[in-house]
Amino acid sequence: MDFISKIQTQNQQVILPILEEKKITLFIKREDLIHPFVSGNKFRKLKYNLQEAKKLKKKALLTFGGAYSNHIVATAVAGKLEGFKTFGIIRGDELGKNLKETLEENATLREAHKNGMKFHFVSRELYRQKSSFGFIEKMKNKWGDFYVIPEGGTNCLAVDGCEEILTKEDSEFDYICSAVGTGGTIAGLIKSLKKHQRVIGFPALKGNFLSEEIKKYTVKNNNWSLQKAYHFGGYAKYNEELITFINDFKKETTILLDPVYTAKMVFGILNLIKKDTFTEGTKILAIHTGGIQAIAGFNKRLENKNQQIIKCS
Ligand SMILES: *Cc1c(COP(=O)(O)O)cnc(C)c1O
Repeated sequence: MDFISKIQTQNQQVILPILEEKKITLFIKREDLIHPFVSGNKFRKLKYNLQEAKKLKKKALLTFGGAYSNHIVATAVAGKLEGFKTFGIIRGDELGKNLKETLEENATLREAHKNGMKFHFVSRELYRQKSSFGFIEKMKNKWGDFYVIPEGGTNCLAVDGCEEILTKEDSEFDYICSAVGTGGTIAGLIKSLKKHQRVIGFPALKGNFLSEEIKKYTVKNNNWSLQKAYHFGGYAKYNEELITFINDFKKETTILLDPVYTAKMVFGILNLIKKDTFTEGTKILAIHTGGIQAIAGFNKRLENKNQQIIKCS
């Protein structure tokens, strides 16, 4: 994973009439370009975890996720790069009934499988107990010893990795914006901020637990806030407005956003700008955390409902 420390992703300026009108500068940090299948932030969250696993002389990694999880693919790819076996506990026992068919249908699991990940599919009920001692012991009996990475990859080592997203040059920005899932990425951003900067997080899911989760890692900091009005109904929920927004934004800026995280964030930023939340001259840097690999699965969902598809090229 050493290569990840050396990666300097580019900041791309967004040119849109609304930004000109309100005199706001918006750049997007293209962490999505780190790898075609691996969300930038997921690699960063894995970096120090894989170092730790090596230190502990573990030969395998085990983690958890849903059928379209960016974190599952990232763990499979990073594990392979670093010589670990990888095991994925996947939510949804119906997916395990016919693995061949599941892999044909699901690009996320197909890519993870191609990179050597072995799956164990569990019911939604069992998935809720996935971190219990009993369940982990059962998996150790099945697969042998492994290093456990939590769902979504967030722990204090993941936060350390996300402190490396911002560079010296980024200190020119007033606000750093990020999508929020489990809160690990934003915690790293918060801890690496310069004094004059603030972070705004855009939760991709409903609920009030996130602030507490973020505070666990950032006790001393109060240089951040969450904008909770842009989750579009909850995790992986969407409406036509969001899909149209993704397609229009791609046309206007060439930047493809993912429907689960980054599209909701950029939609939120532009909406706040429209509502004059920022003063003239404000410079905003939004982190494109990736998630592009999940679009294939998302489009399958849309196709089945005869709805508009996210156009990728
Ligand atoms: C996982 C993910 C996030 C959220 O990161 P957290 O550290 O869980 O908050 C944001 N964007 C993308 C594309 C992701 O895959």
